[in-house]
Amino acid sequence: MARAFIISVGDELLSGRTTDTNATWLSNELRVVGFPVVGRETVGDDREAVAQALRRGAEAADVVIVSGGLGPTADDLTRHGLAEALGVRCERHEGAVAQIRAMFERAGRELTPANLEQANLPAGSTPLHNEWGSAPGIRAELAGALLLALPGVPRELKKMTAARVLPLLAEHPARGESPARRSVTVVGMPESEAGSLLEDLMERGRDPSVGSYPGVAQLVLVIEGSDAAAVSRDLEAIKARLGDAVVGEGDCSLQAVVTELLIATGTTIAVAESLTGGRIADLLVSVPGASSVFKAGFVAYANEMKADVLGVRSETLDAHGAVSEPCAREMAEGARRVAGADVALATTGIAGPTGAVSGKLVGTVFIALASADGTDVRRFRLVGDRMQIRERAAAAALDLLRKRLSRTGSEAG
Ligand code: ATP
Ligand code: MG
Repeated sequence: MARAFIISVGDELLSGRTTDTNATWLSNELRVVGFPVVGRETVGDDREAVAQALRRGAEAADVVIVSGGLGPTADDLTRHGLAEALGVRCERHEGAVAQIRAMFERAGRELTPANLEQANLPAGSTPLHNEWGSAPGIRAELAGALLLALPGVPRELKKMTAARVLPLLAEHPARGESPARRSVTVVGMPESEAGSLLEDLMERGRDPSVGSYPGVAQLVLVIEGSDAAAVSRDLEAIKARLGDAVVGEGDCSLQAVVTELLIATGTTIAVAESLTGGRIADLLVSVPGASSVFKAGFVAYANEMKADVLGVRSETLDAHGAVSEPCAREMAEGARRVAGADVALATTGIAGPTGAVSGKLVGTVFIALASADGTDVRRFRLVGDRMQIRERAAAAALDLLRKRLSRTGSEAG
């Protein structure tokens, strides 16, 4: 069975100033191509520390990936740590010099001696061409293990992994079988409820395995197994049991699914937001193509603004308060009318931590969906801190619309 080891290099990782997202990302990439990670180490910008980690990594695994410390500055010591572990000196690699020169010519930048330091590689090692930055990666071998050093800049590391590392792993003799893998995204169903509906499928030690990965407002279920047909069967079973709580296959975003449905059904939208403070608008406009369906977002926080901009009646506010079914209804109808949109969503609620009133606890949220068919208002009791309640309210609103649009879509189709 193939094994991989990751070494993250950088003082800023040890001090906590930078989060090691490279190691997390790499672990996942390596696992899915059949090189599960058996160990990870983080070391500072220190030649000896890098060398020692390399020796341990080469002992423990077939492939050792090093992230960071390849740059042109004096604290970038990965190449020297590699040389130390290999028991060789660094020497100018003419192929690497040519690559760096070409890179600077293309970018129209002046080459400095510091940049040429990046062409100093451990004797006998090979540069890995880097089209996305100035520091080439390095490939070497230690005690039978393949060593691959990559730049620490996350974007470069990702590009280099796809273009240089994965092809090498694909032909590696120790390569294991990649597991078959499918996933679905679920919204509006707590992890515990999904867990009880899928109890038999989620049993530990089962092949395929079903894992659940909750986010603030959605849940990703990952099915992984040695047999692709069995994985597909589980996927279908999950879709059937969870019904319309399944937003789509893969790691998909609710806002992208909603925007796609709006475009497909030729429906324009406006939003009126109180506790979500523009979050729904922000989610929608983050999707390319939103301009063809998104008309306007109103953040109406103060009661006067709910009245003046959206036309919520003062009697409604006096009799029921802003956090109420009638207020949500009038906000949605007002936004729809003012923007001239086909549908409108509105949110009003108590995000906390203070603000609970009698009969309305923190997390009480009213969400309205107004359309030509009338206005539907739902009351939710969301849990979490202020940020989580706001995020969950935004998701609940988009999900209400998603369910409505997919019903309309399937009726029309
Ligand atoms: P450069 O050529 O830019 O110097 P490098 O290979 O020397 O690249 P570093 O100097 O270690 O890489 O890091 C460059 C940038 O990438 C820094 O902003 C750093 O915070 C970030 N970075 C480094 N390692 C990681 C990591 N493991 N996870 C996330 N970001 C990282
Ligand atoms: Mg650097």
